[in-house]
Amino acid sequence: MPAFICVTCGTQFSPSETEPPRCPICDEERQFVPPSGQAWTTHEALARRHSNTFTQHEPGLIGIGTVPAFAIAQRALLLKTEKGNVLWDCISLLDDATVAIVNGLGGLIGIAISHPHYYSSMVEWARAFDAPIHLHAGDRQWAMRPDPAIKFWEGDTLTLAPGVTLICCGGHFAGGTVLHWAQGGQGRGALLSGDIVQVIPDKKFVSFMRSYPNLIPLSAPSVERIGRMLAPYPFDVIHGAWFDRTIARDGKQVVERSIARYLKAVRGDGSAELI
Ligand SMILES: [Zn+2]
Ligand SMILES: [Zn+2]
Repeated sequence: MPAFICVTCGTQFSPSETEPPRCPICDEERQFVPPSGQAWTTHEALARRHSNTFTQHEPGLIGIGTVPAFAIAQRALLLKTEKGNVLWDCISLLDDATVAIVNGLGGLIGIAISHPHYYSSMVEWARAFDAPIHLHAGDRQWAMRPDPAIKFWEGDTLTLAPGVTLICCGGHFAGGTVLHWAQGGQGRGALLSGDIVQVIPDKKFVSFMRSYPNLIPLSAPSVERIGRMLAPYPFDVIHGAWFDRTIARDGKQVVERSIARYLKAVRGDGSAELI
């Protein structure tokens, strides 16, 4: 039985004889069903037309993305830790070349994913590398392919390896998580931020939203909470969700000034729009 994959968000569902009736992740205000309607593919069909590409963002951190682009087109990050490699976020395609390359790099000790838009084919990856998947329990309802490899964690933080910490910030999703890598950024600290702290074209700022494609903002208290959760962690570099979304310097100040700008905008008297 094929495990169908939603073409719009890249999420793989439990194996079924027929296509699932709908994709709950797309049929929701933080994603969308395109005007052409819900469409499905399979891992086999995807592998015939796409392959994965690898880019080293910095020593110990390799981006893995699919070409030509598929679904949301995020890239995963393979992070080298003292304990072994962690995959941060995930992608739909896991082809034979990717399995061989990741095994050549030492395999995976775990997979951690920022939020449901990047759950993708996580179970394929978990099985290929015999690795657990760490998802925040706040997003339990969005796991479309239940599997014993999925380990739901609760609370504010989870340490995966020395200096590698998952931080639940909420925001975009209730269980929205970022990864703090203390040794990243050549020792200055790095934040792997998914869509939870969104790296935007103006690299002097980041932003925060409930829905990016549909432009639904977050409340001020939600953004303040993100700030409180990140406050204890030093970082200089921010690696966002796509290959070109990296802030190379002053990441901490960028986040602090962006939170201040966001709160001013949503609480403001409108004067900002008149400037
Ligand atoms: Zn979908
Ligand atoms: Zn998202």
